[in-house]
Amino acid sequence: MEGDAGAPLEMEEISIIEDNLEAIKPYMSESGLQAVEKTGVFDYDASGQFVTPLFDGKECAFVYFENEIAFCAIEKAFRLGEIKFIKPISCHLYPIRIKKYNGFDVLNYHRWHICESAVTAGKRNAVSLYRFLKEPLIRKFGEEWYEKLLQSLPATGKK
Ligand code: SF4
Repeated sequence: MEGDAGAPLEMEEISIIEDNLEAIKPYMSESGLQAVEKTGVFDYDASGQFVTPLFDGKECAFVYFENEIAFCAIEKAFRLGEIKFIKPISCHLYPIRIKKYNGFDVLNYHRWHICESAVTAGKRNAVSLYRFLKEPLIRKFGEEWYEKLLQSLPATGKK
């Protein structure tokens, strides 16, 4: 919920969010609804990439709060069984960020101080990032790719 651009969106995700917007709206904040009303479900970042719109210049339009904890209105509608789309793949994969090159993608770990508690919990419970992100990695790249990833890791890294 901080930053100068929303979450990256793949082109096909824009129409999925548009198609499901009426089911998502009940969980959105008033500010988020106004942002979507004004901008639509996507905007452009400085490099021209599709991103979710922001309100107050920093928070994703789909963020809402319960007891001072930020949640995603798209994911809320999904968890309640109202839509079949959990959230944009860039959000699902975070803190992995995908950088596209000609013919291949590079997956980078995005280090950010606001994730320190999650890093601490991951170390304490010995959960590697690629394990924690198994579901979105399979969603994006498929089971076969994920199995190859596991096979390619040194034995010491297979936690
Ligand atoms: S998870 Fe939801 S609220 Fe958070 S950035 Fe992604 S779309 Fe926005």
